[in-house]
Amino acid sequence: MKVYVTRKIPERGIAMLKEKGYEVDVSEKDGVLTKNELATALRTKPYDAVLCLLTDTIDKDAFNATAPSVKIFSNYAVGFNNIDVPEAKARGIMITNTPGVLTETVAEHAFALILAMASRIVEADTFTRAGKYTGWAPMMFLGTDVSHKTLGILGAGRIGSRVAHHGKHGFDMNVIYYDVKRNEEIEKTIGASYRNTPEAVLKEADVVSIHVPLLDSTKHLINKERLAMMKPSAYIVNTSRGPVIDEVALVEALKNNVIKGAALDVFENEPKLAPGLAELSNVVITPHIASATEETRSKMSEMAAQAIVDALEGKNPVNLVA
Ligand code: NAD
Repeated sequence: MKVYVTRKIPERGIAMLKEKGYEVDVSEKDGVLTKNELATALRTKPYDAVLCLLTDTIDKDAFNATAPSVKIFSNYAVGFNNIDVPEAKARGIMITNTPGVLTETVAEHAFALILAMASRIVEADTFTRAGKYTGWAPMMFLGTDVSHKTLGILGAGRIGSRVAHHGKHGFDMNVIYYDVKRNEEIEKTIGASYRNTPEAVLKEADVVSIHVPLLDSTKHLINKERLAMMKPSAYIVNTSRGPVIDEVALVEALKNNVIKGAALDVFENEPKLAPGLAELSNVVITPHIASATEETRSKMSEMAAQAIVDALEGKNPVNLVA
């Protein structure tokens, strides 16, 4: 069996594939393969399986390049908006993702961003490193408490629920949420209150944390009009997918103090940032690293490899999305 891995990932997954006696080729490029590079690489051998990343566009061209041998594209991510799932289904190609193993890590990162915004950690760090700290001052870097405030969750699935848990149990926050499906579990365990529109959450929350998948229905879920509904004192954090927020509208809102601050791990046109975003002091930005701990990335590589082993052994992988 032949497996292609589109970029170097933690060794555990690669070792699992090799232990099975598979021939494993890992892209040697230290970067994202362009669509052409990917198609060329996939054509070099009749691969049975591909382990791909959220930065790879897996569409007709990738399927054509691997036809008819490939059985599975195993995505090293929980989101799979980079894959043309209907096309894969039509061709009988399996698609899998890596849900669950990264929930706690992403929730921790989301909360780290919330606290960094509210306590102005990044601004204060930059100031101190620049040698500008000349003595304690009563009005220096006044931030905002998050304890006892209202946390609004958009998308209360695995990660959203965990962030809600931290808000409630870590900071006694009042949790409200909107989801297309009601989550009775978090209503029971943390007393979260359901709101039946995203607008209701945006109007009421002091901190809004976004955890929806990127779908046609969630693209620009946060736009100019919805930003204007938020409290001027509110913060927004996005660790889901960049296009869920209209980033140009967000930059305008931050410049005009429509909201108090934002923290982003994901960007609308990754890795590019919207013009003006990086110059704003009321935004904290990280380069799509919410799941990037050694433990979690290793588990993700294991899970992505296991899906390939299952598929090639004729079993149904557990995390099939197509
Ligand atoms: P999940 O499927 O458990 O939760 C997503 C929730 O969003 C579900 O409850 C779903 O009902 C809800 N939802 C779907 N459409 C909606 C809509 N239009 N409005 C409101 N709610 C809607 O997924 P998860 O494991 O919690 O992951 C959530 C997303 O986080 C992933 O899809 C992925 O894109 C993103 N993610 C990002 C990183 C990162 O590195 N920044 C890491 C992991 C996941």
